[in-house]
Amino acid sequence: MDKLLLGTTNLGKLQELRQLLLGLPYRVVSPGEVKLKRPVQVQETGATFEENAILKARGYAQASGLLALADDSGLEVEALGGEPGVYSARYGGEELSYPQRCEMLLERLRGCEGEQRRARFRCAMALATPKGQVVAWEAAVEGLIAHEPRGAGGFGYDPIFYVPELGATFAELRPGLKNLYSHRGRAALKARQVIELWAEGVRA
Ligand code: IMP
Repeated sequence: MDKLLLGTTNLGKLQELRQLLLGLPYRVVSPGEVKLKRPVQVQETGATFEENAILKARGYAQASGLLALADDSGLEVEALGGEPGVYSARYGGEELSYPQRCEMLLERLRGCEGEQRRARFRCAMALATPKGQVVAWEAAVEGLIAHEPRGAGGFGYDPIFYVPELGATFAELRPGLKNLYSHRGRAALKARQVIELWAEGVRA
């Protein structure tokens, strides 16, 4: 079975993506499981999630000689003009832990109530071949920033991302349930269709 490389070293993302891509006609592998021609150090210089997802997918496909799937994702908070956005992974500085980043965000939203705490997670995904063919798409999920962190599941900003329809933060959801609602879960549905079509070849 051909391999499909996931273009990320983020353990939270790897875990979710493996689950989301189960049953495809590829053996899904992480960067640590393959021999790369060179180390991949993608500079996330894109101005948008989509540009960064394409940079990562292309970088991993070229370095491995494999079909590569990458995502670039992040949290946009309306009251903060869309911050942290594409800077979600570095918000507040590289040295901060995620609990510290969440605290900083909560502090910045102090005094905001109800709809003023609207936020969305966005996820752009890209699939690239070693020859440079690429396709990209995007998905999002709307929610509110909670007043305090809740739950122990997930990763990153999950403890402060509250989904009103579920009455829970992403970090409080039973394992597997986040994938049903999340930006990455929604983008992965499209990924499954794209990957199945590409497995048949690009030309008619
Ligand atoms: P990047 O896509 O690797 O640039 O980083 C995305 C960053 O956005 C992650 O490191 C998290 O901080 C945040 N993020 C993206 N998706 C999620 C999610 O599903 N839950 C929590 N945080 C997320």
